Amino acid sequence: MIQLVWFRMDMRVHDNPALFHACQQGQPVLAVTCLTQQQWQQHGLGQRKWQLLINSLHGLQQHLHDLNIPLLVLNSGDFHSSVDDVKALIQRLASSDMPVSDVNFNLEYEVNERKRDIELQRWCQQQNIGVNKFHDQCVIPPGEVVTRQQQPFKVYSPFKRAWWQQFDRYNQAPLAIPQPPVDAITPDLQDIVKELSAALPAAENDPLWNCHELAVHEQLEEFLQHRARYYADTRDFPASPGTSSLSYALSLGLISPRQCLYTAWQKNGCQLSGGKAGLASWINELIWREFYRHLLVAFPQLCKHHAFKPETEGVPWRTSAAAERDFQAWCEGKTGYPIVDAAQRQLLDTGWMHNRLRMISAMFLTKHLLIDWRRGEAFFNQHLVDADLASNNGGWQWSASTGADGAPYFRIFNPTTQSQRFDSAGEFIARYVAELATLPAKSRHQPNSLECQQNQYPTAIVEHKFARQRALDAFKQTMAEA
Ligand code: FAD
Repeated sequence: MIQLVWFRMDMRVHDNPALFHACQQGQPVLAVTCLTQQQWQQHGLGQRKWQLLINSLHGLQQHLHDLNIPLLVLNSGDFHSSVDDVKALIQRLASSDMPVSDVNFNLEYEVNERKRDIELQRWCQQQNIGVNKFHDQCVIPPGEVVTRQQQPFKVYSPFKRAWWQQFDRYNQAPLAIPQPPVDAITPDLQDIVKELSAALPAAENDPLWNCHELAVHEQLEEFLQHRARYYADTRDFPASPGTSSLSYALSLGLISPRQCLYTAWQKNGCQLSGGKAGLASWINELIWREFYRHLLVAFPQLCKHHAFKPETEGVPWRTSAAAERDFQAWCEGKTGYPIVDAAQRQLLDTGWMHNRLRMISAMFLTKHLLIDWRRGEAFFNQHLVDADLASNNGGWQWSASTGADGAPYFRIFNPTTQSQRFDSAGEFIARYVAELATLPAKSRHQPNSLECQQNQYPTAIVEHKFARQRALDAFKQTMAEA
């Protein structure tokens, strides 16, 4: 009998509950993964992250090989076909006298992913094949942090306090790399793997994003050792490398959130809050990540991009030809607001954007340009190497005031004052908006029309005061009519 492990966004051998469990059963273990590029495109995800996934699979294949576990790659297209392909694999193994006793996988929480798993599970039950599912995407599984009335939290701060209270119950050291399964893979099984496995597309080194699991562990270690202590003070300043840049690795599952949180918690004297300010603040951000995942499960309509606050569905988002031009300018980083443009160009160049800038840029699109947050969400999703439905949707809806947030809609960042505050020397602007690099630092935040002309930089596409008032009026009217 064989233990099958289906790998998805959990591209690692450390702290991988599905893999660990399978390896403990005293049976040969076979790993499978389904490349679902069509589904990826339907979900609006981009090529750069796809390549990182492929790169990660190369590393995973090697790690599994060292554990004497072959990785079978199936070219499935979409989720529906992936279930058919896994079923066909199981049938093929059974017909060669190598029946699968259990399928093991780590859960994914998005609607289509859950449908896929239910489909497979039903079939397995009919065939008397065990299905072992594990939570690995959150430290505390969704549904376990609820109000006294057993309802999901809709605002972060009370969620965090309740999360803290539950932490002891779920706090466990990350799982080690499993011991190689006792029973080795037979030559017959090796032959089937060779016959059925598609070739893994070639790895292409990305100079910015290392997809080797061990390199990611080193990145975590380096951050916690040297930079985390300053995190509370530096995390909002995009010119400095104040944050961990681990989001791409978390989103691909190259490292587990438990690994990050447990290590930070230990280094913080086994405290979640208090202790060292930098570490406590970093732990807080990891809990934000949990919050958005819990929301996605409690409110599955978020997966379909509905507003969390239904009353905001009526906001009259602009759709005119002028709005379309504004949207294009925003996408390309040509709005005439240097901090917004630098942010957008960072995204296009690197596949990543600093969190402070994500807030500034998202708020600019939704409030200053009054363009539907769903368009910005889709654009980020397409370009981010850490694109993740829960956090992206959460961040966009938070910025657009349509989301799970206690603050009122009239929180509208002024991009210029944000720029002066968080990039005071104009260093980040100079890095990404080369046209303005020769201007004195002070002028980089808001070049005047002569400076724009001389440096071939666009003048602001909308005036701040006017835009702010337009957004306030639009939201006020929508709320009055709701
Ligand atoms: P660090 O500051 O080192 O934080 C550590 C980890 O905590 C991150 O890797 C991330 O997993 C998590 N985290 C940090 N801040 C947040 C946050 N505000 N919300 C949720 N989790 C957080 N994050 C994504 O992973 N994928 C997305 O698609 C995404 N889209 C966003 C869109 C908008 C409009 C906004 C405002 C935020 C978005 N975020 C998203 C959250 C955040 O910006 C990134 O997680 C963060 O910038 C990643 O950088 P880092 O790894 O250096 O984070």
